[in-house]
Amino acid sequence: MILQDLHTHTTYCDGKNTPEEMVKAAIEKGLVRIGFSGHCYTFFDEKYCMSIPNVARYIAEINSLKLKYKGQIEILCGVEQDYYSNFSRIGFDYIIGSVHYLNIGDEYIPIDESKEILLDACNKYFGGDIYSLCEEYYSCVGNILAKTGADIIGHFDLISKFNEDGSLFDENEPRYIKAYTDAIDKLIPYDKPFEVNTGAISRGYRTHPYPSHSQLEYIAKCGGKVMLTGDTHAAENLCFEFDKWFEACKKIGITIE
Ligand SMILES: [Zn+2]
Ligand SMILES: [Zn+2]
Repeated sequence: MILQDLHTHTTYCDGKNTPEEMVKAAIEKGLVRIGFSGHCYTFFDEKYCMSIPNVARYIAEINSLKLKYKGQIEILCGVEQDYYSNFSRIGFDYIIGSVHYLNIGDEYIPIDESKEILLDACNKYFGGDIYSLCEEYYSCVGNILAKTGADIIGHFDLISKFNEDGSLFDENEPRYIKAYTDAIDKLIPYDKPFEVNTGAISRGYRTHPYPSHSQLEYIAKCGGKVMLTGDTHAAENLCFEFDKWFEACKKIGITIE
């Protein structure tokens, strides 16, 4: 396994550490590569993302760290591009494409903030039918590469963040399975890796990375590939549980980048 983490956040968005603190921790942990993936600017929600002036500062700082730590670690300057962001992607080495919101009219509903927000949206816009909400989510996910031109598919089933106990929906419900297999079918031809994202484990929401085990099996069956990422918001969580999930992916027989 190449020890790298290409999904990391810093104080430029909602992370805890500065880019340099992250680089130092990465070197200490023996990473050969670290990629920064600050949240791109989203005009409809400025809470988590980099502000417009900060995007330019972020690119400049990461580029100067590339030079400073040359020979010790490879550093990449990426971005986590939200499905609904219309912000420029120029200046980035790579893009993670992620769906974080459902857009209904002029409302942008965050799907990873709380269970209550999801349930409210479900009642307000989907007639209380959670599978219809999931269908809307996966139809966006299926379009993520076409829409963002991303290199990596971010947290494929983020919609299940608050479903660890199965109380929101049944992940074996045929409508749910059809929604995600349709999305995977649309993404496979691009030959881009799906993240195996351990971020929700390190933050205590889940015990399994995104995507779910069944989804990983389906991706493997379709000949897709994956990349381990930490969605790391704090230096101590770089490459969180990568050994464990590397072995799990090997068992499933999926190609790991
Ligand atoms: Zn994300
Ligand atoms: Zn992220």
